[in-house]
Amino acid sequence: MAFEGLTERLQNAISKLRRKGKISEADVKEVMREIRLALLEADVNFTVVKNFVKKVKNRAVGAEVLESLTPAQQIVKIVNEELIEVMGEEASPLNKSSKIPTIIMMVGLQGAGKTTTAAKLANKLKKEQNARPFMIAADIYRPAAIDQLKILGNEIDVPVFEMGTDVNPVEIVRQGLEVAKENKNDYVFIDTAGRLQIDEKLMNELAEIKELANPNEILLTVDAMTGQNAVEVAQGFNDQLDVTGVILTKLDGDTRGGAALSIREVTGKPIKFIGQGEKMSDLDVFYPDRMASRILG
Ligand code: GDP
Repeated sequence: MAFEGLTERLQNAISKLRRKGKISEADVKEVMREIRLALLEADVNFTVVKNFVKKVKNRAVGAEVLESLTPAQQIVKIVNEELIEVMGEEASPLNKSSKIPTIIMMVGLQGAGKTTTAAKLANKLKKEQNARPFMIAADIYRPAAIDQLKILGNEIDVPVFEMGTDVNPVEIVRQGLEVAKENKNDYVFIDTAGRLQIDEKLMNELAEIKELANPNEILLTVDAMTGQNAVEVAQGFNDQLDVTGVILTKLDGDTRGGAALSIREVTGKPIKFIGQGEKMSDLDVFYPDRMASRILG
């Protein structure tokens, strides 16, 4: 289960205070030391941990906690509020174009879940808003990426535009957008190529597609299981492409959870959705408050 270690350590740290009546500043210091270690162990970015601990500590040594008869509860409340803040406070809805189609460019490293997530999101819009999405297969490098998108498109009954693997991806996107406009599709998903790591050639290609398509969203898919690396990848893509949001996948797996807590603060970009399984229905809007509750257990 995601966050298991973090949840347990946070609960242990705070439970020590439950046995005390009133607490002292030294008690606060001790619990903060443990919270800091718990976050670092969960692979939360170092700077994020530092800022987080500082904020919680400043609030926790105030009268509202030290003089409270239920100090542990007060600390839980503060930690909860600060967790919510670090993850972006509110859910962040999709940017929509004022006229159709809304263009959503999906980017990410190979294996992060980009293709699956494109289809999941198309499916969600279709189910929840009666939308008529359209998907463009512009990953010509990964063997079977086009077939994968076609299979998923078939499963969710969403058309997939492809031109095989011999045409330049920018040209595929150009023609795909024309077809989507003719067909009056309201959402267009562009499934771009991913690599094993960020490289210049890939970024140049993505920048060209961005310039041509002028997307309303550039959604970066990152794998929560990769921890700190997910944060670095997010920074890298954001520096090059100025992404509009992040989708964190594989939160159903055994992730320590650090990425969920770090990405917003490190990149300044919101996590918009989370992937929690392999099925088409396993995509949810990211709610910072629900995630905080999940972390605190
Ligand atoms: P891409 O290379 O980024 O396009 O990655 P894919 O969409 O091909 O996904 C790689 C693998 O991750 C596939 O086996 C997906 O089923 C799986 N996957 C994607 N999202 C999730 C998720 O949220 N949870 C789990 N458990 N698996 C996922």
